[in-house]
Amino acid sequence: MALRSNKDEFFDNLETQSGTDRQKYLDKKLKEKISYSYDKAPAVKKLLDKAGINPKDIRTVKDLEKLPITRKTDLLEMQKSSLPFGGVLAMPLENVERIFISPGPIYEIQPSSMKWFAKSFWAAGFRKGDIAVNTFTYHMSPAGILFHEAIKDCGATVVVAGTGNTDLQIQIMRELKVTAFVGTPSFLNTIIKRAEEMGHNVKKDLFIKRAWFTGEMLPPSLRKLFEEQYSIDTYQAYAVTEPGGAIAYECKHKSGMHLMDEYITEIVDPETGKQLGPGEVGEIVTTQLHNPNWGLIRFGTGDLTSYVTEPCQCGRTAYRITGIMGRAGDAVKVRGMFVVAKQAEQTIMSFSQVARYQVVVGQKDHRDEMVLKLELKDDSIDKNKLSVDINNKFQDICRIKADRIEFVTPGTIGEKEQGIKDVRKWE
Ligand SMILES: [Zn+2]
Repeated sequence: MALRSNKDEFFDNLETQSGTDRQKYLDKKLKEKISYSYDKAPAVKKLLDKAGINPKDIRTVKDLEKLPITRKTDLLEMQKSSLPFGGVLAMPLENVERIFISPGPIYEIQPSSMKWFAKSFWAAGFRKGDIAVNTFTYHMSPAGILFHEAIKDCGATVVVAGTGNTDLQIQIMRELKVTAFVGTPSFLNTIIKRAEEMGHNVKKDLFIKRAWFTGEMLPPSLRKLFEEQYSIDTYQAYAVTEPGGAIAYECKHKSGMHLMDEYITEIVDPETGKQLGPGEVGEIVTTQLHNPNWGLIRFGTGDLTSYVTEPCQCGRTAYRITGIMGRAGDAVKVRGMFVVAKQAEQTIMSFSQVARYQVVVGQKDHRDEMVLKLELKDDSIDKNKLSVDINNKFQDICRIKADRIEFVTPGTIGEKEQGIKDVRKWE
């Protein structure tokens, strides 16, 4: 792939393809992937045979629903019983250039070309002339080297810093006049705080203009701090180790992360594996297409998100995921919709009148019933109006309405009782 000029907004043509073209592209790539890995990767043959599916039965992304989800624990088991790759590798071992080790340990390989992966950094404005400090580990796990290659592929210069050593990182950043930071939001925050403790004026003594984050979500408050107080343009990406790379990335409009066309990313009901529609919360399940020699189909990340299909002003046409809302175990299914604890909390506590809350999910006449119990800071306010406002917002964000809102006496809800309580009895 030829590198675009410094001014270009897009890294490749896939980013702006039409919806129909994308569907055709992904379906075609999927067919190739399944047919190739069925022949070459024993784990894929086993997966399809066990499900009673012929490779020819998988023609479209929708057909993936016929196959079970493989989670990290499954992959670990597969690798333990068939070392080292659990039958996922579809090429002779001697042709593998790099092997990575993720916690488990889980063994993964890096394909020979990851050029496309640079688009996540490209969208964040990394270009020739940038000096980027890469603070992800170069040890065992893929992060350090993968991000290194991608930054380099944007034309920027990489400082091989790795993790930790805050004081030394600050010295390096000053002396090399580092312009871009690659790491976690919390580590950049640590660096800034430490630099200030050391008596530096971060805006004047450091030269960071942009930051690219993954590994943890960027809280809106921290983004605001970085951007407004320190003039650092921030971008985040969602990366998963096992299928190898970042599967979604932000553009300059920062309203969700565009999905990469090098993966098929499904948002599914974690219990049934069925694909969900826009706005519905489900698990991120991903099938990578970029490496024919890695036969990992429908890898379940355990992370929850939802996606939006509205066009983005940047011109990229891929759907956007809206950020990680929690882990699959943190959600409670109410009338077919997942309500995530963190999302419910953010929705309710955005009303400053509320002191404490509890979401109680029960059953009435064989139907799920959701009650929001609220303690107020000031009992004299207009409760009817607040009920309507909260429930509307709950519907907007959590996609489901509460059946009832109850105002309880202050002190009723203990500090540890905040959150979602599932009192349904499954008999
Ligand atoms: Zn965009």
